Amino acid sequence: MLVQQLKRIPLLISFICLSLGVFAQKVVQPASTDPNWSKPYPPFQIAGNLYYVGTYDLACYLITTPQGNILINTGLEDSAPVIKSNMEALGFKFKDIKILLTTQAHFDHMGAMAAIKKMTGAKMMVDAGDVGVVTDGGRSDYSLSGDVSTYAPVKVDRVLNNGDTIKLGNMRLVMLHHPGHTKGSCSFLFDVKDQKRSYRVLIANMPTIVTDKSFSDIPAYPNITHDYAYTLNAMKKLSFDIWLASHASQFELQRKHKPGAGYNPDAFIDEKGYDSQINYLQDQFSKKVKGK
Ligand SMILES: [Zn+2]
Repeated sequence: MLVQQLKRIPLLISFICLSLGVFAQKVVQPASTDPNWSKPYPPFQIAGNLYYVGTYDLACYLITTPQGNILINTGLEDSAPVIKSNMEALGFKFKDIKILLTTQAHFDHMGAMAAIKKMTGAKMMVDAGDVGVVTDGGRSDYSLSGDVSTYAPVKVDRVLNNGDTIKLGNMRLVMLHHPGHTKGSCSFLFDVKDQKRSYRVLIANMPTIVTDKSFSDIPAYPNITHDYAYTLNAMKKLSFDIWLASHASQFELQRKHKPGAGYNPDAFIDEKGYDSQINYLQDQFSKKVKGK
């Protein structure tokens, strides 16, 4: 009898821990995810010290320096091992990630951020507009809010404002505040070099519209119309050589790069593609504002 009771203790302890864990943090990743979000994609060198380490559609970018690396975006909650093995396949250590960034605090880019922060000890830097959602795991998101977090909350180590510079080793990234999609959506502008030349790279958060509601019917985001208009205007004025985005489909990664293809940064020089995307989004925005 006594032996049996003793045997039950570990079971009881694990049950208590599990229950506490559930009460402390309820995270429910939305079920309706695109299969291309989890589909693997071979990692590759985009240009100089910039690499693609994401999935087929959820773009994650690695920028390496002799002083450690920067990871932008993480994909869904189960993508930490995918990103890790992608990085290792390119010859980089997961532990060398020193800075974590996101282009927008939705679950399809933030899903594995808490896990990766825990595994690497890297510092999370977030646009001021998204600090609230990053901290509560998307619970307070104006368009996807419910009674649960859609990703594990992440502690913010540095708050970024428009034009702030992120420095690591020889790299300087400028953060551009591009709100609308989320209150703190942002893009990153920086230079990379190879033996031939230097490239100005724009990792853009394209201002797609998430909400089905009318913009005048979102009390949680009274500035939404102003923010989208500001972002579209600001994005039209940017100049760069290489254009990338939060989703691979947005910049047509699979058309520009075939798995296993050799190093070819020029494949991502596509100002026309960018302009036509921005014009399309401007059109969507105008229709939304007119209530069409
Ligand atoms: Zn999003």
